[in-house]
This record gives sequence, structure tokens and C-alpha cells, in this order.
Amino acid sequence: MQAELISIGTELLLGEITDTNATTIAQALTRIGLDLIFRTTVGDNEQRITQVIDLALARVDVVITSGGLGPTVDDVTREAVAQATGRPLVFHPTLLDQIADRFRRFDIEMSDNNKRQAHVPQGAIPIENPVGTAPIFILKTDRGVVMTLPGVPREMKYLLENALIPWLKDYLGEAATIQSLILRTVGIGESQIDTRIADLMTGTNPTVGLAAHSGQTDIRITAKAKNEAEAQELIQPIERELRRRLGSWIYTTGTQPIEETVYRILREQQVSISSIEAGTDGLLSQRLHAGAGEISDILTHNQICETIEDLGALIGSPERDIQTLAKIAAQHIRANRPGTYGLAAIIRETGEGLTEAGVAVATENICRSRIFSWTAERADAPTWVTTHCLALLWQMLLKSSAVPEE
Ligand code: ATP
Repeated sequence: MQAELISIGTELLLGEITDTNATTIAQALTRIGLDLIFRTTVGDNEQRITQVIDLALARVDVVITSGGLGPTVDDVTREAVAQATGRPLVFHPTLLDQIADRFRRFDIEMSDNNKRQAHVPQGAIPIENPVGTAPIFILKTDRGVVMTLPGVPREMKYLLENALIPWLKDYLGEAATIQSLILRTVGIGESQIDTRIADLMTGTNPTVGLAAHSGQTDIRITAKAKNEAEAQELIQPIERELRRRLGSWIYTTGTQPIEETVYRILREQQVSISSIEAGTDGLLSQRLHAGAGEISDILTHNQICETIEDLGALIGSPERDIQTLAKIAAQHIRANRPGTYGLAAIIRETGEGLTEAGVAVATENICRSRIFSWTAERADAPTWVTTHCLALLWQMLLKSSAVPEE
């Protein structure tokens, strides 16, 4: 079965609030194995909400709405569901009693417009809201199920967990779960990964998908099965095959950033590092300190230069080629400081709309480097470039054959 989530609220469209409800609902649906295949956002407009509910009923089995159940005139979810399913709204005195009771308990006078909240489309199952005033409802039609949730996150969560999810589990019949495993890679681009694993990305269960971040790409394996153990059985052979093809670029299946993985190996190998950088806003140094976690003798020195010229002056090199300069800088910082590895990361704008970057890692005997260039503005350039620098160090630490000698 497949579901669509409709987030209702003009403030969501205006970007005034973030749709945290959608994340919560999506995670809950994943847990019970209901495939969420569309997420729609619509403003507080009855006609447009009706349109999207109608469209959703044409393409999925379960439609879940969030928001628009309040008592005011711009809360029109009830009316829209009624319109889209061709049913009148019916008044439920028991719902009004529950709402009135809540107002009494808080010693607040109930206004007339709260009566609107005691209406649900004909044939719908009304569900009391013990944590707020807006009751919700579940409506089974021959085109599919429509379920409503309030917009207020606290109320939404309560009703989701205590009413909708139990009802959905029952409705779905056989228990199911969706499990994912993420393999995080560095040092290899998204398109290179795509070329190597394209055949594995066409499967339907498990599915394999890519998500590129700054200098780092995640490979997500997602399986749907009756229970967690069966889902893992589906995931494992794909994981093994991905590791066989991309093993030397996969640095974790956890959430830790590359700097933490690097530090684990540095500690194991009892080696230390120094770094020098320019044009990176000091990010390499920051990440190395963050990775170290505590004051450590692994990190011996960080030199941060504002510009490439400052860096050239500091190390006494007039070199203009950025890759060569990065190598000289890495060797310089290694030779002049008591670090086993010297790291350099440099970013420079060339003045013709082009930005270029060089990263290098030097040991006593070898120095490896990478060069990058791009034209469009990249706000994430320091993250991107320093990730590549850390990836290079990591692969040297592993003595990976994936990095060609220079
Ligand atoms: P109410 O009874 O409060 O009117 P409602 O069901 O009509 O409930 P909305 O009026 O749509 O809900 O939203 C109430 C508040 O809940 C919003 O002002 C916003 O702060 C929050 N909210 C609504 N939708 C979302 C969402 N998708 N994600 C996060 N917060 C939301």
C-alpha cells in the first residue's frame, strides 16, 4: 500500500515554519512499512486542498493530512475532505461535548466557532483529541482512506502514535517494516559511484539510492520486509556487493564525520598530523580539532592563512600552480613541525569567475594531492575541499590502492 502526506498551511508555503510534522509522520509510516510516495504542501485554501486530496486519492491508497482542523474560518480541511469525497459534513454532538468539556476543565469559555470542529464528513470515524480541541477523523471510501491530523506538532504526535498508527497497522494487516543502511563514502564522486553500481540501483526491494553532500556521498540501501531480521537479510547481500565494488571509499555506516574516522586510525597507528590552509575559513583546523575530541598530542600544529599569498609568504614559496603549492605547503608544515603527516588545503579565486582548490597530504617519503576547480558560487566550498583533504589522509592511512601515486 502507498500513502501521500498533505501538509496544510499557508505559513508552510511562505517558508515561515518548517514542516517538522512531515518528518515525524514519514518516520512513523516507514516504521510500519507503509510506503510514502508523495508529499504535498498546500495553503489554507479550500478549493486547492480539495484538489490535492482528490489527486492523492487517484494515486495512493492512504491520504494523510496535517493541519487546518482548528475552529477558525481559514481551517478548512474538514470541508475539503467532504468536497473531495462527495460527502456532507455531519454534526456529532458527542464530539462537541468532548470539546466543551475540555474548555470547562480549563475554565475557558467556548466560542461558537468551536462547533465547526464537531463536524466530520458523513461515514467518517471521529476520534477524540484529548490533548487539544481539534478532533480528527478517518474516512474510508472506495477510492482510498483519508486520515486527518492537527497541525500543532504536540497534538499531531499524540494522535499519530495513539490513534492513526495503531489503526493503520490493523488496516495494513500483515506487519511490515522498512529498514535502511547507509554506507558513507569519501574520495569518490557521485557519478563515479553511479557508473560502478548502476545495475544495483534498478532493484525494487531493496532499493539502492545515492545522496551527495559536500565532498561526500551516501549510498542508502532500503528494504521492506515483515520484520527487521528479514529486512536485514535482504540488505546484507547488497551491502556485501557494494563493499566489494566500493570498499576502499566506504568509511562508515554510522553518523560520524570523516574526521572522527581519521582520528580513530591516527590513534590506532599512533601517528600525528600538522595542517596548513588558506581561503578555507580555518575549517580544516576546526574539523581536525572537532575530530580529536579532546586535547590530543595527535594534532601538533594548525596554521591558518587568510589568503594564498599569505600562505606563500609564510612558507617562502612563490609557486602559482595551486596543486604544486598545496604539495609544497604540506611538505613544509610536515618538515617544520613534529607531525608524521602534513596536510594542506587551499582555495583561491582566480578573478575570472573561476575558483580553484588544491589539497595535499605529505609524509616523509610521499606526497599525494588533488586539484579542483568550479565556476558557480559554492557556499560549501570550504566543507567540500576539507572533506577531500581528510579523505586523502584517510586513504593514505589505509594505504589504499584507490589513490593513484603521483
Ligand atoms: P489549531 O487548532 O491550532 O488551529 P490546526 O489543525 O488548524 O490546529 P494549524 O492551524 O494548521 O493547525 O497549525 C497550528 C500551528 O501548528 C501552526 O501555527 C504551526 O505553528 C504548527 N504547524 C502546523 N503545521 C505544521 C507542520 N506541518 N509542521 C510543523 N508545525 C506545524
